[in-house]
Order: sequence, then C-alpha cells, then structure tokens
Amino acid sequence: MIAKPFAKTIHAEALTALTKRLRKTHPKYTQIRDDMMQKNAGDLGEEVVMREIEKLKLPHKFYVFHNISLYSEVNFQMDILIITPFYALILEVKNISGEIEISTNPAELVRTKPNGEKNSFNSPVPQLEEYIYQLSQLFRSNKLNIPIYGAITFAFASSYVKKAPSNSVFLLTNEVRKFIREIKTDKRILADNELDKLKNWLLQKNNEYNSLPLSNHFAINPQDIVTGVECPFCGYLGMKKVIRNWACPRCRNFSKYAHEQTLKDYFLIYKNTINNEECRRFFHLQDKHEATRILKNPKLIKTGIARSTKYTMTLQK
Ligand SMILES: [Zn+2]
Repeated sequence: MIAKPFAKTIHAEALTALTKRLRKTHPKYTQIRDDMMQKNAGDLGEEVVMREIEKLKLPHKFYVFHNISLYSEVNFQMDILIITPFYALILEVKNISGEIEISTNPAELVRTKPNGEKNSFNSPVPQLEEYIYQLSQLFRSNKLNIPIYGAITFAFASSYVKKAPSNSVFLLTNEVRKFIREIKTDKRILADNELDKLKNWLLQKNNEYNSLPLSNHFAINPQDIVTGVECPFCGYLGMKKVIRNWACPRCRNFSKYAHEQTLKDYFLIYKNTINNEECRRFFHLQDKHEATRILKNPKLIKTGIARSTKYTMTLQK
C-alpha cells in the first residue's frame, strides 16, 4: 500500500519559479537553473520508479513512502522507503542514463554517453549506506530491530551498469518488483498492527527541510527578482490588471486567475509574509482594494489587525 504517494517536491517547484524570475545576469542564475533541471529530472526518475512499485503485490502487508525526510543523527531524505513486517528497504533513485561505471576508491560514478562523452558524479553507494545507517539508528533508538536493505535504482532503461561494487545492489526500474519479491521473509519481526503503527509514526516524523523562500536560502537580494503577474500563455512577467481580468501586453491574451500562480511564486521565492503594500508592489497594482481582493484568497492565513495585517501561505506538505 502507498503510505506517501509520489509528489513533486516543493523545492523543485520553487526552483522553477526562481529560474523564471531571477534576472538572467545574476551571478547565481546558472547554478540555480542547473539545480532546477537536475531536481526536475530527479523527480521524473522517482515518479517512474514509484509507478512501477504501485503495481507491486506481496503476500504480506507493506507500506511505501515517496520522498520521506527523517531526523536521526542528522536530517536524511530517502527517495523511496518500503516497510514490511520482515524488513525495510531504501531505494535510491538515479536518473543518469548511458553506460555506468561505479568505483569505490575514489567513490565515483562515471557515465559514458553513446557519443563517448564522459561525466563523473558522486557515487550513490556511500550516500545509500549513510541512509541505511541513519534509519537503523532511528529504529534502534525506538527499540526496533529490523533488517534494512538498500538498492540503487536507475530509473531509465537507457542506463546500463557496466561495472559496480559487488556488495551493492543496482537495479533497473523493470527489475525492482522481482528484486523485492525475492527478498527473504522467514523471520517476522512486526505484527500487522505494529507495522501500521510504524507507518503512522514515520508519517508523523516526516519533516521536509524548510528552505523557503529560496531568496533566503540562496542569499539573493529580493531586488534581483522580477516581479509582476506571469502570463499563463506566454510567460511574460507583468500582466496588466483590467476589470475582472489580467491582460498580457505581449501576447494579448486574458486570464482571470493568473494571479494565483504569482501569489504562490511570491511565497516560494520572495518572502514568507505579504501585506497590502507588498502585494501592490509585487503584482504591479495601484489600487489598494485590488490588492485586498487578491489577499482574500482561501489559501492564505491572515495574522495581525488593521495596518499590521499580513498573510502567510502553508507550502510544506
Ligand atoms: Zn502573454
């Protein structure tokens, strides 16, 4: 059963918003755009593997979590975690395609593309070992002694693992279900109701690292962020408010709800509170009452009264 379904990470969404709105001349622009592409590709790989695991059937109860973040000695985030009455399994998903060679000394992953181009990445092996260690510490401190396995999964069929350390498991997406079905289940550690309790406990412990708004995280001056309502048709930033509508001066389309995404962008990348004045500035509005209408959004939580009224949005899931 899926305990925590696939969802795009809020961090990927925030990076997309920042790439859209950060001035292209900003010294951190290239790094942020690359981060965004990597994060989105990572999400895509995890989605592919999760879709495969949704088809998994086992003769016993089990729970699957996508992207669960826990705290043990440090914060650690697992792409996919599966818990069963017999063991726990961590899947570390990689979306690197091409011919893959993983070495241990130094720990690195070298990918060769069909055109011969080589790129090296951090090896996923020490990372997965660290997750297994952190999870075992967390379980042990709660008097739970259950075997924890790990496997590195390459999401796309265009990956081919040519050389890898023999003590680690490497899988392609289409091998995942077979691999899980073959894990030994001769010693039951948890009764079904204990497994349910563990599932609820893990969901409760899940804490996504709060890196928002991204301008804080990357130490970006808000002045370097392009304001204005985004046109949902052509991406232009700076739609004009007309009666009951937003108008795009570039593609000449109209949109009634264009401000919704802009409001979310504001909280993802700009600031974690908004007041009437900040709303007028970000949405390019002259009229106080127009701003009030935007801020009367069911997604916003109002705090303070009169002149000190401001609003926040809950972004973490
Ligand atoms: Zn437009």
